[in-house]
Amino acid sequence: MIYSVDKKDIEIGISACLIGEKVRFDASNKPSHFCIKEFSEHVSYKSFCPEVAVGLPIPRPTIRQIKRDDVIHVSQKDGSGDVTEALKAYGKKVASMTKSLSGYIFCAKSPSCGMERVKIYSPEGNSLPSKGIGAFAKEIMDANPLLPCEENGRLNDPLLRENFVARVFAYKHWQTIVESGLTKHKLTTFHSHYKYTVMSHDLIAYKELGQLLARADLPLDEVAAQYILGLMTALKIIATRKKHANTLAHIQGYFSKHLQANERQELCEQIDAYREGLIPLMAPLTLIKHYLLNHPKDYLTKQAYLSPYPDKLRLRYAY
Ligand code: SF4
Repeated sequence: MIYSVDKKDIEIGISACLIGEKVRFDASNKPSHFCIKEFSEHVSYKSFCPEVAVGLPIPRPTIRQIKRDDVIHVSQKDGSGDVTEALKAYGKKVASMTKSLSGYIFCAKSPSCGMERVKIYSPEGNSLPSKGIGAFAKEIMDANPLLPCEENGRLNDPLLRENFVARVFAYKHWQTIVESGLTKHKLTTFHSHYKYTVMSHDLIAYKELGQLLARADLPLDEVAAQYILGLMTALKIIATRKKHANTLAHIQGYFSKHLQANERQELCEQIDAYREGLIPLMAPLTLIKHYLLNHPKDYLTKQAYLSPYPDKLRLRYAY
């Protein structure tokens, strides 16, 4: 990690049922192993159950999204107990109270908490082809487009899990710098630390963000707002094996003249093996970090790309 932060300082919003709270319609929970056993070692959670918060009991009749006259309502199957406005109002309230959050994990498919692909029904009870967003989740996401958000099911995919965690730690880093008082120098330094990270997600964004920082005609707060939006948007793009291999090749080029011939050869072989899918990303990265110990390069050592989150999460072993 290129910045130090205590786990209690990284606050993640989460659907309460995912961390074991028995708040679902049938008084059950939906525990997420990753959230409870792994991620919790590095972050602290603020849990919310919007359905309970708006006064629904435990247990309770199930609710669903129903499209009536082009408007989505969240209510019981027969249309009774409409909680749409209550869920939206609670979402706005939570969003305004939780600006310090560095991420949010939603429970998939829920008419209140689902981040995407929530089932929508006709008033007659037929499932419609269009898919919705949970009424509470939408308010949270609309209020802060920068906030890294993900669903429990998608977090079982190693690439999506890694992507979410990397966004959380990058966003927390940004929040820390803003809290300390942003200056032009801090912004430029932050960008220099994330250059290879952005490159591994989106080469176009890599170039555009560099050009944005070079603009002298914009005030700092406007550059900063455009910068962080561009960065967080770029980081949502999955870093593929090909993009990682290209990024590794750039890193190799940056300090290859400092390496011995046999070291250069070994690194080339590792990058090629990674590109071909024979070894995980962790292998060439470990070699680069090892060479950096022998041939220190401050610019590289401080790259978030080499250590975007605590190694203990072991997120770069699976791909
Ligand atoms: S999905 Fe959301 S509303 Fe449903 S039980 Fe879990 S926290 Fe509560």
